[in-house]
Amino acid sequence: MEKRPTALVLGAGIMGLCTAWGLLREGYSVRVVDQAPPPNPLGSSVDHHRLIRHAYGAQPGYMRMVDAAYAAWDALWTDLGEVLHVPTGVLAMDEAGGDWIRASRAALREDGRAITDLSGAEVTARFPYLSGEGLDSAFWCPEGGVLLADRIVAALARHVVARGVVIETARAVRVDAAHATLVLEDGSRRSAEVLVVAAGPWIPRLLPSIGQRVTASKQVLVRLAPPPELAETFARAPMILDLSGGFYMVPPVAGTPLKIGDHSFSLQGDPDDPDRTPDPREAERILELARRRIPALDRFTPLGAASCFYDVEPEERFVVEKISRRAWVMSGFSGHGFKFGAVLGQRLAQAIAKPELEAFIPAWAAGDEVVSA
Ligand SMILES: Cc1cc2nc3c(=O)[nH]c(=O)nc-3n(C[C@H](O)[C@H](O)[C@H](O)COP(=O)(O)OP(=O)(O)OC[C@H]3O[C@@H](n4cnc5c(N)ncnc54)[C@H](O)[C@@H]3O)c2cc1C
Repeated sequence: MEKRPTALVLGAGIMGLCTAWGLLREGYSVRVVDQAPPPNPLGSSVDHHRLIRHAYGAQPGYMRMVDAAYAAWDALWTDLGEVLHVPTGVLAMDEAGGDWIRASRAALREDGRAITDLSGAEVTARFPYLSGEGLDSAFWCPEGGVLLADRIVAALARHVVARGVVIETARAVRVDAAHATLVLEDGSRRSAEVLVVAAGPWIPRLLPSIGQRVTASKQVLVRLAPPPELAETFARAPMILDLSGGFYMVPPVAGTPLKIGDHSFSLQGDPDDPDRTPDPREAERILELARRRIPALDRFTPLGAASCFYDVEPEERFVVEKISRRAWVMSGFSGHGFKFGAVLGQRLAQAIAKPELEAFIPAWAAGDEVVSA
């Protein structure tokens, strides 16, 4: 029997598992090492949902990558036998006419995407549960939706394990990139022909050179249930990106809670800290961002607040780079990586299998507009 090439992946978050899935499709024998069985509740890839949308401010490279991302998710849904994405559309709003919404609108239009400009009054008319007061500009984009994150990670782990991938629960204490080797806490080693390190917010500890560019950042989110008379309305609501309020809202799709969070980086915190319940004042700060736009907010039932970690690169550009002849790192996802998990894993696996594809990966993953992507 022909011997299959071997790969070792550190991290069973969305990046590590999607790369394992891609490597499996490329014919590799794959071992994944994670300190916790997936989905790790302390990892960046869970809780219930993550958003996927084309609106990307002045980062058209990522906007263009979203089509490839959808195609890769479709390939994954086929393999999993279920679709774990709920379309919602996107409502983006701004009071100040700021750069992000202006650049998003221009890039989306240039790309021929269907978006509808809305005034504040039109926002209220179309979405009566929102206040359009004070809005300078808003647009609606029918594409975009919610990825059911924890269900995806769990289903993907089951899928790859059923096809021979070994997921080992162990903590790595050292990465020997030159030898594609991990040293585990008990002193034992795991090696393969190629190593991929996808350690989420723990990366600075394992690879200090990447840690000079990427910082773990604790982010707070709040879960809520709309009052009964608004439950159905909010279940059909779009994702909301409120730039001046500084919050995003994920509607309560597919039995998940409604979620409100913000995207300003704390650049603080320890991902090993198991206590993920934020100070009530932090949760209140998040709610305060949304109160003006969602007038009924104080009638919502609080379902709890949580902290989750981003791995922040200062320009929010992903770091998918070769760190030795036989090892790659996936990092710097800066709170917007999940939507690209399937396509990044798929493309990195293809580049590992066919080294002539390697050269374009770092710039493409960093959001540059690379033609062959
Ligand atoms: C609150 C929040 C909201 C977000 N919203 C969105 C969104 O709407 N859209 C979007 O696209 N993205 C979003 N993101 C970002 C996205 O979720 C992340 O970019 C993505 O999940 C990162 O995946 P990962 O596999 O790199 O990291 P992780 O999921 O953290 O996986 C890393 C894994 O490595 C393991 N590990 C680390 N160190 C070791 C070690 N030494 N030994 C063994 N195992 C180890 C960990 O246990 C973990 O399971 C959001 C993130 C957060 C936190």
